[in-house]
Amino acid sequence: MAQSKRKFRTEVSKLLQIIVHSLYSHKEIFLRELISNAGDAIDKMRYEALNNPDLAEGDTEWGITITADKENRTLTISDNGIGMSRDEIAENLGTIARSGTTEFLEKLREQDVKEHPELIGQFGVGFYSAFMVADEVTVISRPPQQPAVKWRSKGDESYTIEDTEKDRRGTDVILHLNEGEEEFLEDHRLKALIKKFSDFMEHPIELEGETVNSRKALWLRSKSDIGDEEYHEFYKSIAHDFEDPLETIHTIAEGALEFRAVLFIPSRRPYDLFHAEPKSNLHLYIQRVFITDECEELLPSYLRFIKGVVDASDLPLNVSREMLQHVPALNKIRNNLVGRVLKTLKEMKEKDFDRYRRFHDSFGAVLKEGLAQDFSNREKIAELLLFESTATDPGDVTTLDAYLDGMPSDQEEIYYLAGSSREMLEHSPHIEPLKARSREVLFMTDPVDEFVMPSVEYKGKKLVAVNRDEVEETEEEKQSRESKEKDYAGLVDLFNEELDAVKEVRVSSRLRESACCLTLDRESMTPQMELLMKQMGQ
Ligand code: ADP
Ligand code: MG
Repeated sequence: MAQSKRKFRTEVSKLLQIIVHSLYSHKEIFLRELISNAGDAIDKMRYEALNNPDLAEGDTEWGITITADKENRTLTISDNGIGMSRDEIAENLGTIARSGTTEFLEKLREQDVKEHPELIGQFGVGFYSAFMVADEVTVISRPPQQPAVKWRSKGDESYTIEDTEKDRRGTDVILHLNEGEEEFLEDHRLKALIKKFSDFMEHPIELEGETVNSRKALWLRSKSDIGDEEYHEFYKSIAHDFEDPLETIHTIAEGALEFRAVLFIPSRRPYDLFHAEPKSNLHLYIQRVFITDECEELLPSYLRFIKGVVDASDLPLNVSREMLQHVPALNKIRNNLVGRVLKTLKEMKEKDFDRYRRFHDSFGAVLKEGLAQDFSNREKIAELLLFESTATDPGDVTTLDAYLDGMPSDQEEIYYLAGSSREMLEHSPHIEPLKARSREVLFMTDPVDEFVMPSVEYKGKKLVAVNRDEVEETEEEKQSRESKEKDYAGLVDLFNEELDAVKEVRVSSRLRESACCLTLDRESMTPQMELLMKQMGQ
């Protein structure tokens, strides 16, 4: 087939524009991204070859080679991984498959990126980061037992694809560097970057015939040997983030169940936390061999913000990805990891509340989903949640424990009101009667609250929405209501006949300053729920 010229999808053009025109800091991360892709490609090939050794065509000396050519100003990153076919290369290097991409990029202004490059760091620029330093990128790739293909682009609107020859299976990514980026052709600079970004990578990374990385997987080393800096670089490398993580959890489990895990809580909420499929983000290794980064069994979806790796030594190496869900050991690992994460959060909340608050602002809304998903940990999750309430100043928060501590002895239940903002909730007639009785009402402003809170009980106290039915009617109020019901029977009948939009009009004892209010019976959907269902296309 002859050369064909194709246009990038709009979201790729937009991303390239931002990369070329706005992303001036953190340029060196292009090397991390390209080495990480090369490593991923090798992992995939090795995994395929486990079950089908012929595919590897005898080339199983896994490795990555970096070649600098000062004369032509090119830097080449080569791997003998899985390669890409013509269709795959067009798909992988011409589109961005992740959901929510277009919305994210549309909202992102170039000026924002100039001032806060970490915004795009949370998105993960991946392969396209090559255009931070190169004015032209050529990719030559050959998958096992297939012809080779050449992809080329100047990082503008389009790219070309043509057939080519390549002896070795795998991929060469060739960067033609911009003027002024010659530092990336210098041995010492490249060595330092490889050490910094990829030292723990299992596959050898060769420069000038020498292996540069120490190849010791971080998670296999003892904790006391690893400094924060190393953990942070590892995090940034696997999470493709620009910023350090908020928290690191390194676990070494020995005995009946052997595994090692290094988990991270990011500092910032990723752009697609609520768009993407709610999947876990952990990389699963078995005895150092990468198996998958889509193992839903490793962590429940309410902890999907956690990044990291898990290396299980007891699992059979030839377990297929599809079979993973039937491996009982994974379930045990998962329970163990969930326990560690919740414990870490609890400690952070107790010892460093400001940092915990940052965590909660980013991920509290996801953590809450666990109230409905993970009954065995429900109380532990509830304990971690923060809320504004009628008793806190705007912006300040309280907890369920603090609520219980301040609760009068004659109060039986925990009150809350859910809605879109504190401002709106504060003025709701539903809290008038409770305020009058000095009852604290928690304000719940995450969409998920409506779904999860009604079923929650904390330390024996039920959570009750104050806009559902009557709460806490005293004997006195009951009598006054009953006598008013008699007095106003005619008027109430008239309202009930004339007002079609409401199900029922009745006399209430709950109001103080307002003349009337809308309430919900237990079966009805709340307005927020209806909105959420609409957003989900229901
Ligand atoms: P990500 O790695 O997060 O998927 P990238 O932008 O880094 O995103 O890469 C896009 C895709 O291009 C990869 O998912 C992979 O399918 C393909 N790819 C990139 N580099 C290579 C390579 N060296 N070998 C094989 N495939 C590659
Ligand atoms: Mg990548």
